[in-house]
Amino acid sequence: MVIETWKPQETFELGRRMGERAQAGQIICLEGDLGVGKTVFTQGFAEGLGIREPVNSPTFTILQQYEEGRLPLYHFDVYRIGDVEEMEEIGYEDCFYGEGVCLIEWPSRILEILPDRTTWVEIAKDLEKGFDYRRIRVEERA
Ligand code: ADP
Ligand code: MG
Repeated sequence: MVIETWKPQETFELGRRMGERAQAGQIICLEGDLGVGKTVFTQGFAEGLGIREPVNSPTFTILQQYEEGRLPLYHFDVYRIGDVEEMEEIGYEDCFYGEGVCLIEWPSRILEILPDRTTWVEIAKDLEKGFDYRRIRVEERA
C-alpha cells in the first residue's frame, strides 16, 4: 500500500489510524532519512492508541515507553546504537515479545534481531513534488 501525504498532519493522520488498529505484539519498522517524518507518524500513532503525553524521538535514550494507551507503546530510536548488545542491555526482548506495540526508527541498524513478522513503513521525500510531499509505503513482511 502506498500513501502520499502533502503536509505533516496527513502523515500524523495515517499514524493515528494505524494506532487505532494496532494489535498486541505488532512491530512497526519506520524507515526513512532524518527529518522525513518518522516521529510525526509516531505522534499520530500514539494518539491513535489513546496516549496523551507528548511523544518525541528517544534518540539519546533509545527507548521510550508509554503505558497510558489502549496497549503499551515501546518507541525505539536506534539511530545511535553501536551494536545489538546495547539492545540487550535495554531489555528489548520484553518489548518485542510482549503485549504491547513496538515502533522502531532506524530498524535497518538492528536487522539481525528483528522478528520475522513485521510491518514496514517507509517514508521518502520527492522534492520535485514539493518540500512537504512524502511517499509512504506500508508493507507486511513475514
Ligand atoms: P524523523 O523522525 O524522520 O527524523 P520528524 O518527524 O522529527 O523526522 O520531522 C519531520 C519534519 O518534516 C517535521 O518538521 C514536519 O513538520 C516536516 N514535514 C513536512 N511535511 C511533512 C509530511 N508530509 N509528513 C511528515 N512530516 C512532514
Ligand atoms: Mg525521529
